[in-house]
Amino acid sequence: MTGRTHDLAAFTALGFVALTQPQTNITLATGMVAIFANLIGGIAPDIDQPTAPFWRNLPIGGVAGRVFDKFLGGHRFISHSILGVIIFGFGFHYLLEILRPSFPHLDMMIIWWAFMIGFGSHLIMDTFTREGVPWLLPIPVKFGLPPVREFRVETGAFVERFVIFPGLLILNGYIYYSHYAVLLNLLHSHLK
Ligand SMILES: [Zn+2]
Repeated sequence: MTGRTHDLAAFTALGFVALTQPQTNITLATGMVAIFANLIGGIAPDIDQPTAPFWRNLPIGGVAGRVFDKFLGGHRFISHSILGVIIFGFGFHYLLEILRPSFPHLDMMIIWWAFMIGFGSHLIMDTFTREGVPWLLPIPVKFGLPPVREFRVETGAFVERFVIFPGLLILNGYIYYSHYAVLLNLLHSHLK
């Protein structure tokens, strides 16, 4: 999947979780940083792909991407597995713990969850692509849905651009429409 599909999928998953789980009070800063962390999480697994949007958006991305690519073993390796979810989960948690004293108004747990929701959505979306996802690394088997490879989505091709991307937009509309009262309550009562 392309970077923008992943970003939209991450945002969709975050919206769904935020509107279906019990609400807690958060600061506006936490909400904004959480959305940013969610979008980063949504493209972070492609850190092992040197041509990915994750690297293209960095100044020295091309070079750094190729170094990482060697290190992580090419596209859809460690960062596209359950092991990767655990490694990135601990790594991001560690980073947030370092930043916590400097940002007392941010709820790091919310930001961590937003990142992980984005990360998880990426692996689920990639599971529908031709290449599949090596969920169980180091067991080198790639899984995909549907199981028959030919029926899966080709990255950046017609189905992704004209079915999946617009489908996610419609899904967002549906989620916010069907949880409108919850959304208003979140904005009015829980955002400080
Ligand atoms: Zn990917």
